[in-house]
Amino acid sequence: MPEPNTETFAFQAEINQLMSLIINTFYSNKEIFLRELISNSSDAIDKVRYQSLTDKSKLDTCPELFIHIIPDKANKTLTIRDSGVGMTKADLVNNLGTIARSGTKQFMEALQGGADISMIGQFGVGFYSAYLVADKVEVITKHNDDEQYIWESSAGGHFTITRDTVNPSIGRGTIMRLVIKEDQQEYLEVARLKSIVKKHSEFINYPIYIEEVKEKEVEQEEEAKEGEEAVEAVEEKDEEKTEEEEDEKTEKDEKKKKTVKESVKEMVLLNKTKPLWTRNPEEVTEEEYASFYKAFSNDWEDHLAVKHFSVEGQLEFRAMLFVPSRAPFDLFESKKKRNNIRLYVRRVFITDDCEELIPEWLSFVKGVVDSEDLPLNISREILQQNKILKVIQKHLVKKCLEIFTEIAENKEKFTKFYEAFGKNIKLGIHEDAANREKLAGLLRFHSTKAADEMASFKDYITRMPEGQKNIYYITGESKAAVERSPFLEALKKKGFEVLFMVDPIDEYMVQQLKDIEGHKLVCVTKEGLELEETEEEKAAEEDKKKDFETVCKKIKEVLGDKIEKAAVSKLLSRSPCILVTSAFGWSANMERIMKAQALRDSSMAAYMKSKKTMEINPDHAIIKSIKARVEEDSEDSTTNDLIHLLYETALITSGFTLEDTSDFASRIHRMIKLGLGIEDSAEEAETEAIQPTPAAVPADAKMEEVD
Ligand code: ADP
Repeated sequence: MPEPNTETFAFQAEINQLMSLIINTFYSNKEIFLRELISNSSDAIDKVRYQSLTDKSKLDTCPELFIHIIPDKANKTLTIRDSGVGMTKADLVNNLGTIARSGTKQFMEALQGGADISMIGQFGVGFYSAYLVADKVEVITKHNDDEQYIWESSAGGHFTITRDTVNPSIGRGTIMRLVIKEDQQEYLEVARLKSIVKKHSEFINYPIYIEEVKEKEVEQEEEAKEGEEAVEAVEEKDEEKTEEEEDEKTEKDEKKKKTVKESVKEMVLLNKTKPLWTRNPEEVTEEEYASFYKAFSNDWEDHLAVKHFSVEGQLEFRAMLFVPSRAPFDLFESKKKRNNIRLYVRRVFITDDCEELIPEWLSFVKGVVDSEDLPLNISREILQQNKILKVIQKHLVKKCLEIFTEIAENKEKFTKFYEAFGKNIKLGIHEDAANREKLAGLLRFHSTKAADEMASFKDYITRMPEGQKNIYYITGESKAAVERSPFLEALKKKGFEVLFMVDPIDEYMVQQLKDIEGHKLVCVTKEGLELEETEEEKAAEEDKKKDFETVCKKIKEVLGDKIEKAAVSKLLSRSPCILVTSAFGWSANMERIMKAQALRDSSMAAYMKSKKTMEINPDHAIIKSIKARVEEDSEDSTTNDLIHLLYETALITSGFTLEDTSDFASRIHRMIKLGLGIEDSAEEAETEAIQPTPAAVPADAKMEEVD
C-alpha cells in the first residue's frame, strides 16, 4: 500500500535506458558501486562543510562528519549513511531521476563502444551503479532546508518520493539502503566490503566506518531477562563505553554474574584520513598515489605521472598534480565546467570549481592544492580576484611543464601523453606567450622524413642539411592528404624535411610560432617561399621566368579573377602546376577549416580567402606543350579548356575544394570525347552544360580521373 503522501515519478527516458543497461549487462566487476556511493557521500560532506565555513550552525543538525557502512545479512540490506548536506525534495526529483546529464547518453554510447561500467563515475551518473547489486534502492535523506524524505525505486521506469514519517530522524545527511540481489550476497560480507573500501576509497578525507558484529564474552546477571537483545553499541568506537557499562553492572551484581556470549555491534574505522598530500613525498608509494588518484578523480586507470610538492616562503601551499593516462570523453566540451583541481585551505575542502587555479589549456590536469594563506571563509567572488591564486597558478603551470618534460624522457609514455593531450599543448602555445618556447619543445609531427615516429623540432634541426635555414611545414586535412602533395616535390629533392601539420588547431598554433631557435617557420603552400638556393639555380630560374612570360600572361587572361597571377614555380618537379596562397591570407587548409566551422561571416571570408597564385612547372611536358600551343595560336578554345582544367586539378591537389563542379565535369567530358574521337555537336554541348552537378563523386575520385 503506498503511503498517502507518496508521489510517483517516471525516470527520464535516457536514465531509464541506462538503468536497464546497468541491470541487464553481464558485468563481473560490480564492486565499484561502493566506490561510487562513498564518493557521493564524501562530496555531500564536502558541501556541508563548505557551507559551515560561513555559517557554523549548518553543522548543528549533525555535528560529526562520517560515512557509515552497515551490512545486514538478516534483512539482505546494505546501508551507506553519511552526514553530508542531504537532499531536499527538489534535489531528489532532479538529481535522482528526472533530469539527465549529458553524461547519461555519453556513458551509454561509451559502453556500446566497448567502455567498461567501472567508468561510470566519470560520466556523472555513479549513483545508478547501485543497481549493479541491488534490486531496490531506498534513499532516506534530510537537508537542512527541508523535511526528511524517502526516495525509492526498484527500477522499472519509475521511482517514488515520500515524506518520511516512519524512520527515525537522521538529523542531516543521506542513507542509501540497498536491497542486495539474491546472487550478490557477497556484498554483505564485512571482509569483502573492507577490502573494497581499502582498494577504492582509502583516501577519502572523512572517516569511513563499517559496522561489525563481534561475538564477545560478557559477564551478565544470572536472571537476565530473556529477550534482552544484543547490546546496541553504535557510533564511534564504543568499546570503552561498553566496558564502563559492564563495570557498573559488575559492581551491582557481584554475586550473580556469569559469562555469556553476546553479539556486539561495533563501528570500525577503515581508512586513514590524514590527507595524502600532507605527507612527505618520499614516504608515499606509487600504489598510494595511484589509489588516491583513482579515488578522487573517478578515473579507472592509473595516472600517467604525478608531481607532489610544497611551496614555501611568501606563499605557502602543498599540491599534488596528476596527468591522466587518457583524455576524458568531454575534454573539449566548452560548456562543461572544468573542475579538476580541488582547492583546500588548511586541510578543509573549499571548492572544486575554481577557474583561477589553472589555465584552460591545462584543464586536463587533476589534483589538489592546499593553501596555508587563504582565509577559510573565502567566498567564490573573493576567490576570483584573489592575488594569491594568481601566484599559485603560476607555480602550478611551472610544475606542469616540469611533469611534461619528464614524461618526454620516456618515449612510450610520451606517445600516450601526446595522443591524449597534444591538442592541449598546442592550445597552450596559442595562449601562453610566456611558456611558448618550452611548450614548442614538446611538439611532435610526422614529416617527410618521419613517417612512423614523430619528429620534434630538435630532431628536425639536427637533421637539417647544410644550407637549409628555415623549418618547413605543410598544413592539411590528414597525413595521407599532405604526404603526396605536389608542394613537397622540390623540397624533397633538395633533402629538406617538411613537417606535416594536420590537426586543425595547428593552423592557429603555428601563427604564434615565428621561429624555433632562430629558424624561421615557413609554410610551403604560401607564396614567396624562398628556398635556400645556389647562384646557378637562381640564374636558371630567371631564364625560365622570361621564357614562360607569355604563358603566364595567357593563364591569367583565361582564368581572370580566379587567380591573382601565374608564375614559374620553384617547388615542382613532377606536377604541372599548383596554387599557392598569399603569405598573410588563409592557407587552403585554413579555408577548409573555416568552411567546416561555418562561422565565417562572408565579408571576413572574402577578405581572408587568399588570392591564389598559379605556379607552373616549366619542365613539365604538359606545360611545355601548352606553351607551344599558346605561342602558335593564342585563341584556341581547347587551350583555354586545358588551362581551366589545369587550374581545377591544381585546386584539388593543393588542398582546396572545387566550387563549380558542373563546369569541371563538362570540361572533362569534352576532353574524353576528344580522346575518343567523338565529334562534339553544338546541341550536345548545350545539354552537357546544364547537367546537374555530380555531387556524390568524392574529390579523390575526381582527382584520379584527371590526374
Ligand atoms: P555525480 O555524483 O557524479 O554528480 P551521481 O549520479 O552519482 O552523479 O549523483 C547525482 C547527484 O545526486 C549528485 O550530484 C548529488 O547532487 C546527488 N547525490 C547523490 N548521492 C548523494 C548523497 N549521498 N548526498 C547528497 N546528495 C547526493
